[in-house]
Amino acid sequence: QSVWQQKWVVGNWKMNGRTESNRALLGDIAALPAAERVCIGIAPPLPYLAQARAATAQAGNRIHLAAQEVSRFADNGAYTGEVSAHMLADAGADLVLVGHSERSLYFAETHAERRQKLENVLAAGLQPLLCVGETLAQREAGQEQNTVAAQLDVLANLNSRHIAVAYEPVWAIGTGKVATTAQIAQMHEFIYRHILSLCGSDVNIRILYGGSVNEQNAADIFSVAHVDGALVGGASLKGGSFAAIIRAA
Ligand code: PGA
Repeated sequence: QSVWQQKWVVGNWKMNGRTESNRALLGDIAALPAAERVCIGIAPPLPYLAQARAATAQAGNRIHLAAQEVSRFADNGAYTGEVSAHMLADAGADLVLVGHSERSLYFAETHAERRQKLENVLAAGLQPLLCVGETLAQREAGQEQNTVAAQLDVLANLNSRHIAVAYEPVWAIGTGKVATTAQIAQMHEFIYRHILSLCGSDVNIRILYGGSVNEQNAADIFSVAHVDGALVGGASLKGGSFAAIIRAA
């Protein structure tokens, strides 16, 4: 099955991990039984990309490696602290998160920067996973669709026929407050239509849900139309929970 027909379960470790504790978690992940219907990814912090690459290579490369962030600068140069998309590719990543809400919250990332990052990721031959989602205030003001539409607009005229998006309502991230299946269904349908209108009907699309996904709620979330997977934060740090979410996919 092509990954564009599979359910994606991507673990976003955020700023968590140490060489020693990663060893156990990566061991659990590498030992996961092959699942024909599921595309598994993990996004460790950059210093652990090589460790994750080595540990998952033993799993026959079934595990995709993701980076949590990428530089908006494309080429090598005097950009202290930055890591380019080409470096991520070189280090064995094949997926890159772009636009996670924590990047705008703490680093004031703009739409233009996100667009530049998407282009850099594609130019390096990697797949971007664009994160979108509204705040609680935006939802309460009835602005959730407008907000998400504006965030998706960075996809317009992108030179790619493969669009991967994660819908992560900001109020559901790390809060234990998961969106209802009705809210997810409505937004995923909206995102699907909006991508078609921006990118044309001949694109491959994956729309992941993210925000307090755990082993209890995963099966219900995966059963919603246009939910093609999950971006999992907290629950991806426990091998047992991550495995259970993959089984539910
Ligand atoms: P969470 O994080 O699963 O801990 O809510 C999801 C994310 O931010 O990707």
